[in-house]
Amino acid sequence: MQTNDYLNLKKQLTTTKKVVIIPHRNPDGDAMGSTLGLYFFLKKLNIDATVIAPNDFPEFLAWLPDANKTVIYENTPEKASKILDEAELIFTLDFNAFHRTGDVMGQKLATLQQPFVMIDHHELPDPYATYMYSDTSMSSTCEMVYHFISNLGYENMVDYNIATCLYTGIVTDTGSFRFPKTTSTTHRVVANLIDKGVESDFVFNNLYNNSTYARLQLLGKALQNLTLLPEYHASYITLTQDELNQFNFEKGDTEGIVNYGLQVKGINLTAIFIENKQEGIIKISFRSRGDVDVNAFARAHFNGGGHINAAGGKSVDNMEQTVKKFITILESTK
Ligand code: 5GP
Ligand code: MN
Repeated sequence: MQTNDYLNLKKQLTTTKKVVIIPHRNPDGDAMGSTLGLYFFLKKLNIDATVIAPNDFPEFLAWLPDANKTVIYENTPEKASKILDEAELIFTLDFNAFHRTGDVMGQKLATLQQPFVMIDHHELPDPYATYMYSDTSMSSTCEMVYHFISNLGYENMVDYNIATCLYTGIVTDTGSFRFPKTTSTTHRVVANLIDKGVESDFVFNNLYNNSTYARLQLLGKALQNLTLLPEYHASYITLTQDELNQFNFEKGDTEGIVNYGLQVKGINLTAIFIENKQEGIIKISFRSRGDVDVNAFARAHFNGGGHINAAGGKSVDNMEQTVKKFITILESTK
């Protein structure tokens, strides 16, 4: 977005009454943090803002301020559709293609005539937005929302709730400030957020020291299932629906487990395959190091996408076939 876009949007916001803010399906810390952070900011501009998530957010994010006010499209489609129809402006955060909200909500979004604002850091954005702030060099959408508010000239309006939401997404998307896109600017943004009152230990405890016993046992199972493919510098983890059931799986319990596959010396590409019987798919997460491009890998072979070092996709084959396909692709691209 150019200076002019910010000026135009700023002007538009002074007369806008109703806004909807949307994260991607299966929202993570960055998706929920950025949408709720923007929601609190728009409310301060006296705008009636509603966050509409395609489906439920995980329990480990339920403590975020006003998370319980999120409207869930797939649970209450009629209510959500009505709010969408009445909105004058629609923000899409932490995704850049309608299909990332799922089939049902994605089709609805494609019918809407209102202007869209995109704030996102994934590869290859679709051109649906009137205002498009897309930057793949960014650590997180939450960092972008901070820059967005600053560029509108409203940095002084960032308060405790906005800062807490934005800090949360920066922490989760940077793997607690470890991933390569964590820049000096990211740290400066974080410093400013702490000056606004963020209590980092409160956020960390809510995110990471709030696990059920069963979730840790599931992690143990996942680590036992970790398989190395040293000839391809790769590794993978599988979790079947039966295994998930055995450990009373709840949404969010597998978050972050994929990263363990990269902790083994010599491994620069890893995947986790998680069976979802209800949706009839294997959901896949990929992680890589350096210039190993898992966005391209997920896009080419598993109907997905994301970032160069962190991407996702899915498979409609069974677990065995999906893992076999993964290994065959590694063999052929060796
Ligand atoms: P995760 O593995 O943590 O679910 O996702 C890693 C990154 O890839 C996130 O930025 C996420 O938004 C993106 N991603 C995950 N699944 C998909 C998918 O199926 N399609 C696309 N385009 N991106 C995905
Ligand atoms: Mn993100």
